Amino acid sequence: LLASRLISLYLGNLLSTVEKITAQGHVNSMLKLAELLSLAGLRVSFLNTEHIHELLTHSTDVQARFTKYPGFQFMTIPDCLPVDYPRTGNIMEVITSLEVNSKPIFKRLLIETRPPVNFIIGDGILGSPLDVAAELGIPIFWFRTISACCFWSYFCIPDMIESCELPIKGEEDMDRLITKVPGMEKFLRCRDLPSFCRVSDLTDPHLVMVVNETRQSPRAQALILNTFEDLEAPILSQIRKHCPKTYTIGPLHELLKTKLRSIKTQESSYQSSNSLWEVDRSCITWLDTQPSQSVLYISFGSITVMTREQLMEFWHGIVNSKKRFLWVIRPDSVTNKDGDVEKIPEELQEGPKERGYVVKWAPQEEVLAHKAVGGFLTHNGWNSTLESIVAGVPMICWPYFADQQMNSRYVSEVWKLGLDMKDVCDRRVVEKMVNDLMVDRREEFVRSTARMAELATKGVSEGGSSSCNLNRLIEDIRFSLS
Ligand code: UDP
Repeated sequence: LLASRLISLYLGNLLSTVEKITAQGHVNSMLKLAELLSLAGLRVSFLNTEHIHELLTHSTDVQARFTKYPGFQFMTIPDCLPVDYPRTGNIMEVITSLEVNSKPIFKRLLIETRPPVNFIIGDGILGSPLDVAAELGIPIFWFRTISACCFWSYFCIPDMIESCELPIKGEEDMDRLITKVPGMEKFLRCRDLPSFCRVSDLTDPHLVMVVNETRQSPRAQALILNTFEDLEAPILSQIRKHCPKTYTIGPLHELLKTKLRSIKTQESSYQSSNSLWEVDRSCITWLDTQPSQSVLYISFGSITVMTREQLMEFWHGIVNSKKRFLWVIRPDSVTNKDGDVEKIPEELQEGPKERGYVVKWAPQEEVLAHKAVGGFLTHNGWNSTLESIVAGVPMICWPYFADQQMNSRYVSEVWKLGLDMKDVCDRRVVEKMVNDLMVDRREEFVRSTARMAELATKGVSEGGSSSCNLNRLIEDIRFSLS
């Protein structure tokens, strides 16, 4: 059935791009969008850097999932950096190389690919596909994998600069309120701005890059965001003043699950993590033996690194809180001041602990949905934040970089879904926040997280805003292809 639908709905070759270096977040979101479009019968070519594709080929989960869509293919493009270039942690260099060196290769690839590429969905972190699409007359939509609130704050950076709200003048200036991000005047502090704003030099290349990328968004025919209307409505109405065609289709992971369920595939209950790491499922067996809502899940995503001292502050805070925990500690997550990876201390290596369990990588969506999990200590990567919202799990936020500072402010101050520990790493604060979240203020958080989870589920259900927006997006693509 699927095959005949695909053939009958064959509409050309749709291209999407992912340009993130071992950054699970972008890869995850892009693959989910690609799968949703494949499910709708569109023929999708997924363009990735050779480096990331190489990592993806290790994931049997990803390979198995996509081979069942006959119109789907992976394609690769070189990032034009030396083979042994340390890409992790050097995202700027990779993006610059892709923008400059890979651009002509991308253009040639578009011209030569058969069947021809006649629609592009680009990851909005990279601007050059906009130029190439314009040159070749191919319609292009932009997909931003960040929250709407963060996208909007990026968009307003030039106004903040013009009114001298930026640069931030040191640590003592961090609690000053920002007034030039419409919709956020009452609660946005310098501290909550995306980490790229924490520079004294306004010509800082990261800052310039995010401003340039974001300001180019209206050049694309439409913007796609992994969020939902009930979560970010006030900010979405600000964004739509500049990008009138903005499709909110999140939370993507839940929308995909719902769509799969509706066509009753065997995988309707699958975890679509698209993991680049080997998932340790032993933690689920451990969770099965724990009391309901008793476990704090701790994970800082795929990129966050911390010092050994910070890790030990978390460890002591969590142990002193006397709460049960499941902790993801990636082997590469502790570095010294020179950026060299350090060994994980003995007591924190994987395996069972007195009240806890440590793994290198967990099946996160499944963990968050587990009845034993009652809280999430997170870095607030956008995927993790959305996954927590869908699962109705309250959060303690310890943002690391980029959009995470904004997300954590929204989680605590706007959505009231948890507590923000931003910029602090002290065992006493950790202990207190864990107790507040898991015991003392539990009721209030359980109420607000349950309400938001309900709205998220409604949004992806048949007739919900994200589900309808996806249908509109697909219709729009088909219209462009016809
Ligand atoms: N994740 C996972 N297992 C882990 C930790 C993370 O499957 O042990 C997944 C998580 O479910 C999320 C992604 O990795 O989908 C992390 O993306 P996010 O945007 O939260 O953060 P990033 O890694 O980009 O900083």
